[in-house]
Amino acid sequence: MEQHELRQWEARCTQEEAPHCQARCPLHIDVRSFCQKVAAGKINEAWAILYKSMPVPYITAHLCDGVCMESCLRKELGGSINMPELERHCAQHATKTPLLRPLPSKNKRVLILGGGLTALAAAWELAKKGITPTIASTDAYAEISSNLPQETLEKHTQAFEKLGVQFSTEQAPKDLESACDDWDTILVASPELTDRYACTVTDLQILQTQISSVFAVPSPWNASTIERVALGRTLAFSAERSIQNVSLIAGRENEGPFLSRLQTDVSMVSSLPLLPAGAEGYNEATAMLEAGRCMQCECMQCVNNCVFLAEFKSYPKIYARQIYNNAAIVMGTRHANKMINSCMLCGLCEEICPEDFAVQDLCLSARQEMVSASTMPPSAHEFALRDMAFANTAGMLAKNAPSASASTYAFFPGCQLPAVSPHLVESTYNYLRTVMEEPVGLFIHCCGAPAHWSGQQELSQTTTNQISSQWEAMGKPQIIAGCPTCATMFAELMPHIPTRSLWEVLEETGLPPTARSLQQPYVLHDPCSTRHDEPMRTHVRSIANTLHMNITEPHLSEVLTECCGYGGLLDSANPALSKKASQHRADVLSQCSDIEQDVLTYCAMCRDMLARTGKRTVHLLDILFPACNSALSCCNADPATVPVTGFSDRRENRIRLKEQLLTTIWNEASPERQEDLPPVSYTADATAHMEERRILQSDIRKVVQYVESTGRGLFNTKTERFVASFRPVSVTYWIEYTKDTNGYCIHNAWSHRMQIIPPK
Ligand code: SF4
Ligand code: SF4
Ligand code: SF4
Repeated sequence: MEQHELRQWEARCTQEEAPHCQARCPLHIDVRSFCQKVAAGKINEAWAILYKSMPVPYITAHLCDGVCMESCLRKELGGSINMPELERHCAQHATKTPLLRPLPSKNKRVLILGGGLTALAAAWELAKKGITPTIASTDAYAEISSNLPQETLEKHTQAFEKLGVQFSTEQAPKDLESACDDWDTILVASPELTDRYACTVTDLQILQTQISSVFAVPSPWNASTIERVALGRTLAFSAERSIQNVSLIAGRENEGPFLSRLQTDVSMVSSLPLLPAGAEGYNEATAMLEAGRCMQCECMQCVNNCVFLAEFKSYPKIYARQIYNNAAIVMGTRHANKMINSCMLCGLCEEICPEDFAVQDLCLSARQEMVSASTMPPSAHEFALRDMAFANTAGMLAKNAPSASASTYAFFPGCQLPAVSPHLVESTYNYLRTVMEEPVGLFIHCCGAPAHWSGQQELSQTTTNQISSQWEAMGKPQIIAGCPTCATMFAELMPHIPTRSLWEVLEETGLPPTARSLQQPYVLHDPCSTRHDEPMRTHVRSIANTLHMNITEPHLSEVLTECCGYGGLLDSANPALSKKASQHRADVLSQCSDIEQDVLTYCAMCRDMLARTGKRTVHLLDILFPACNSALSCCNADPATVPVTGFSDRRENRIRLKEQLLTTIWNEASPERQEDLPPVSYTADATAHMEERRILQSDIRKVVQYVESTGRGLFNTKTERFVASFRPVSVTYWIEYTKDTNGYCIHNAWSHRMQIIPPK
């Protein structure tokens, strides 16, 4: 990522923008922090926030007229937060005041013409910056003193004395041009004086006049109390820049009120009525309650709806910076690798974000860059890529319909349905062959999603090329995609191949007579790959409707559906987070109804991931082709109880499916599977460890083969078990086993990337 691209990403996320109250406040008080402190009873800390950002804080806090309230998002939800009363409460009840620490004197003098809030505020700001202000007024407090308690005025006066603000009652200068010889800068703080000295304010943002070292408020003005204070601060800032001879305008765009882009979702917030302050103002308890009504407005809409974004405890603007920094590291640890590889690439964030921030694009391009720079850790996606390679070799099948030399259609079930429900591939294909008038071929292959998701662009291209060649060899049939992810991959990466979804075709052909019209309620889970495939989602709903299924739509469905935890190869890169995401989705699906409902989905992986959480889940094909008599079927009358398929069994299922189809449909004998190893069995513990550690039975058999051929194994006299290891390519596999006349029994298995080098 180039730096300008980083800037573009960062600019998109508005999470760090000010809430609307703060943006509207002419002084940009940090209202959220202030309310948080008051709500927690931390009055001194709340007062410190005001004291830091308000000129003449005792006076301002007392007289603030709360222009921020116009923009408060609570306005329609019980009434805007009563900031003026909360400020007054703090100013009166705070027992500690932060120390005033003006900057060292710059030996510069500024004359402020006129009294009142604007002049006092300008003097306060200048004095804090080490510039000596002199207020030329016979009664600087005339405008405000009647509205202020004596105690407030006294506190203010003490602070002014500490800052060294001076007052002059000498006659005001006759003309400003000649007075400029005696002062570094002159500030005109009342519209009457602006008129009297014939000042023309040439720039309203910085209050510049026709005389370069004179700044003046506009005349006439229509300024509220707090706006007069802000004008005083603007005068002071301009005077300071003029004295320091730096740009008068740079970086001051948001000095006055501005529009914030921050969007806060208040759709789930209940109304809470404003607490009236009473004649004496708030007491501690009522101030806490009123401040507690502040919603602490922020965006975080994507984070609140994504397990991955929440897991890494920040938000996309920060993630973009972390990804950029991660790529810049030459030596050392790339801490963001795990984060980059944990996005499910599901695209929900983009739909939810008011600014269309597509985290999936950011993470995918980061993965692609890591792969091309050889900085992608091989362990992140290796298992999934090995699985893809297996599906595209031993598990691959591309056949025209029996006795046809070309296919008009080809059923493409993807690689996961053959792995977890091979009988559904068989049933569906047989049904399509029966009802389609033109020849239907079968094309079992992985669509290349794992290569694409892992950032392996070359491998992705190779895979799509393989699919294209095979498709051409089959006579360029129209693809009938049985898997939503495959349909997406065809649309995005192989648009030259015409593709329709299985559900669209089944709607046209009519549903199989085996379809069970179940009356029980289901909650529908849309796979995240159908987010932008409205036709597919509609066909599925239409099929469910035809079957009179009682369907509930969850809160997050259709274009806002959530990932099941598999997308983006999360399962491979961060199994713990993948489990969390699956559980989260299962919980969301459970919460959408008072009664427990089975989940209905139409993606084999979604079915598997949700079933792993214990949530009863069925695939739509389970409903269309219920327990059949195929040799491949587990013939379970209740498909929601079909056990989750382990990694090794997935491979076995693919092979068995291929053998079964070749035999029964094409009448072709499969090559005998030969292995001259003794039988290998697994304890339940070993099976669980292998699943968790992504170790396949085929990996274990390689170790056994090595032991058989070399006799190398260690005997642990304590456990009375053997231990052996073998490194086929880049991973070393270990087994702990016993051996008897029945063969090998595996008790434990583990793996690592270190290479064991035997002593010489
Ligand atoms: S939804 Fe997320 S990415 Fe979009 S502005 Fe909000 S915090 Fe930033
Ligand atoms: S609810 Fe709080 S943070 Fe939100 S706009 Fe109102 S005062 Fe500001
Ligand atoms: S693409 Fe999905 S997983 Fe990734 S950040 Fe967006 S919502 Fe989260």
